[in-house]
Amino acid sequence: MKLKRKLRMGMVGGGPGAFIGEVHRKASRIDGEIELVAGAFDIDPKKSKKMGRELALDKNRVYSDYKEMIRAESKLPLGERVDFVAVTTPNNWHYPIARDFLKAGFHVMCEKPMTITSKEAKQLAALVKKTKRVFGLMHNYTGYPMVKLAKDMVKQKKLGKVRKVVVQYPQGWLATALERTGQMQASWRTDPKQSGAGGCVGDIGTHAANLAEYITGLKITHICAELTTFVTGRRLDDDCNCLIKFNNGAKGILHASQVSIGEENNLAIWVHGEKGSVEWHQEHPNYLYFKPPAGPEEVWKRGNPYVAEYSAAAGRNTRLPSGHPEAFLEAFANNYANFCEAVKTVIEGKKPSPLAMDFPDVEDGVRGMLFIETVVASSKSKQKWTAMKK
Ligand code: NAD
Repeated sequence: MKLKRKLRMGMVGGGPGAFIGEVHRKASRIDGEIELVAGAFDIDPKKSKKMGRELALDKNRVYSDYKEMIRAESKLPLGERVDFVAVTTPNNWHYPIARDFLKAGFHVMCEKPMTITSKEAKQLAALVKKTKRVFGLMHNYTGYPMVKLAKDMVKQKKLGKVRKVVVQYPQGWLATALERTGQMQASWRTDPKQSGAGGCVGDIGTHAANLAEYITGLKITHICAELTTFVTGRRLDDDCNCLIKFNNGAKGILHASQVSIGEENNLAIWVHGEKGSVEWHQEHPNYLYFKPPAGPEEVWKRGNPYVAEYSAAAGRNTRLPSGHPEAFLEAFANNYANFCEAVKTVIEGKKPSPLAMDFPDVEDGVRGMLFIETVVASSKSKQKWTAMKK
């Protein structure tokens, strides 16, 4: 039976003044397949109610906390209750919230990094397997069509064997002790209890590592890392430099920073193979550069039929014709579109297609946590080169 209704979304986090919850709300609406019907939006119940009023939600479905939300939503019939929850709180809350919603039978879309320890991440992976619920992890940069095109170029051997990967994610917004001004996003990100063992490496280094593994299809096996805290008194790293080895023998460099003044979200990646290279920049996401060994560089532009002909994943995750830029919100929306199709298919009792399952999942979340813990261990160690934790 085909499910002929919108998916019902619940949200935890995303209260007044929060950053990413609002991005999820906007992006999940883009295709008209998802409606937000419930939430526990803030750590402060009053602010959760305020957010519910601002969003014009039914006041009976705006909750004081996520536990109350699970109890009340579970009592509603299927089709009325939320089908899935988006977890958009600081990192320390992801695990208990995702765990409890999965146990109650809900599908989950979770923010990254997935948890604050790899132990929690593995427990979540086991629970996803057991409950057979769909679990999406919002590594949104995999949602860009030109990233999907790059992945397909690697897969279809246009680059030949991958030899070298350079990936960077510099920002400059934490170049001063912003957390001491009470700024909400800076405060919890620099607190190990809420952020986990990694600062910059957990917040944005994980995006870079995920992007490298997503495009190349390779796995990071060894890391030689140096974490630094440049801002005096800060409790977590604000700069991260890594040398990397991949499971096919390829070598890599990954750097992430939150003290690189002047940089905004300058995520970029270069993948060099035996037959050619690709280059992609998040701040100019509609273009993918392919460099052959001889002859001129090719600029592949999103929205052109040749992109969809080469990459079905890029084609189906494109909404606008070429020349009308798509960016951050659309990339989130692409992860939502694929996740939504997967959830609907599971509700219909069928198996989602590989194209629908093209979004980061709980296993990527485990990889992310192992990456953070390996970088932290390598940085503290004397021998430096450290095998990726298992
Ligand atoms: P934020 O500080 O702006 O917002 C966090 C919100 O969660 C606040 O409204 C807070 O009150 C609420 N909250 C905290 N604990 C809660 C609880 N137990 N129940 C309900 N609400 C609770 O944080 P942010 O910048 O939006 O980051 C949130 C998460 O999103 C983090 O895990 C972060 O790593 C991730 N993030 C991802 C991206 C991305 O590009 N994918 C970008 C930014 C943030």
